[in-house]
Amino acid sequence: MKFATKVVQAGLVSDKTTGAISTPIYQTATFRHPELGRSTGFDYSRTQNPTRKAVEEAVATLEEGHAGFAFGSGMAAITSILMLYRPGDHVIITEDCYGGTYRILDKLFNQFGLTATFVDTGDLDQVQQALQPATKAILLETPTNPLMKIADIKAIVALARNSSENPIHVIVDNTFLSPYLQRPLTLGADIVVHSGSKYLSGHNDVICGLVVAKDAALCEKIGFIQNAAGAILGPQDSWLLLRGLKTLAIRLRQHEENALIVAQWLAAHPSVTKVYYPGLPDHPGKDIQDAQATGYGGMLSFVVDHPRLPAQVLRKVKVLQFAESLGGVESLITFPAVQTHADIPADIRQRLGISDCLLRLSVGIEDVEDIIADLAQALD
Ligand SMILES: *Cc1c(COP(=O)(O)O)cnc(C)c1O
Repeated sequence: MKFATKVVQAGLVSDKTTGAISTPIYQTATFRHPELGRSTGFDYSRTQNPTRKAVEEAVATLEEGHAGFAFGSGMAAITSILMLYRPGDHVIITEDCYGGTYRILDKLFNQFGLTATFVDTGDLDQVQQALQPATKAILLETPTNPLMKIADIKAIVALARNSSENPIHVIVDNTFLSPYLQRPLTLGADIVVHSGSKYLSGHNDVICGLVVAKDAALCEKIGFIQNAAGAILGPQDSWLLLRGLKTLAIRLRQHEENALIVAQWLAAHPSVTKVYYPGLPDHPGKDIQDAQATGYGGMLSFVVDHPRLPAQVLRKVKVLQFAESLGGVESLITFPAVQTHADIPADIRQRLGISDCLLRLSVGIEDVEDIIADLAQALD
């Protein structure tokens, strides 16, 4: 079955008693047992809930993994994955990663003895040099946030497999592209995580997170953590995610079509000095992107030529909304240095290029002429 069909059918569990097409919201904490020693398969909704199960199976199918797990946020999903590791373990992570991921490693998990090295995962030598005997995972974002750097997933998997006798998990945060455009498990990665608050749900109306893994034994461990730590997604939000997911393919197609046009328009604008979008011909790593993904997505960043401009743009936009987050049908514009990446120290931000002239745009599915007209008047 093709992806666009799979995604529409996702979560179509069809209630056996009524034949309902839309998965019912099982708003229940607990489940009655038919008799001692028999179960319907459901006991208590932290452990498993039918609505959550439908969305977990849907995302596992789309990412081509063994099992999926839904959490109360992307950060809850990432936190739960990091609980696979112990004091003394070490992880390597993309340096211009999501600010919240930087924060939990730098301010929370370090308290429990899990150390992290932040490197440019677009540069294989840097990844190799960061490997230690204690390294247990390499956590990648590709494209990165907000500079859209591309990491070679297959090459990093090969590095992880060849450089240690102990398994090193390759974990990919696939939030920016979604399984419609990139399926890291098919490239050899062990675990995929998502902030489902972005493209998977797609309407800026729910906070959720997902994990999908390939190996059955690893899935069992993740399922244990999900139930033990309990950062689960509730049935109402599971339903919203299921509902949003059905249109993933058609939304992404429009996001991408619009993003390419906006990127080209920005690149030609006199006040814009740089555009970061993997669909532009001169984008570093475009060859790798073309080899490992089927598109470029709807996210881009751009640099303006004066530090006064970002505040002006954010004040003047009318079609675009000045708001954090991404991946919804509405176009959102944000200022990474202050909004999303404030937890990354200023000197590191500067070195990474997350400057006071950088704006990030989540291109929505509005008519692209309106998006461009809005940017034109805001930059004027
Ligand atoms: C938003 C985001 C997260 C965090 O997800 P929440 O749902 O906000 O907790 C993690 N990674 C990336 C790439 C994100 O964009």
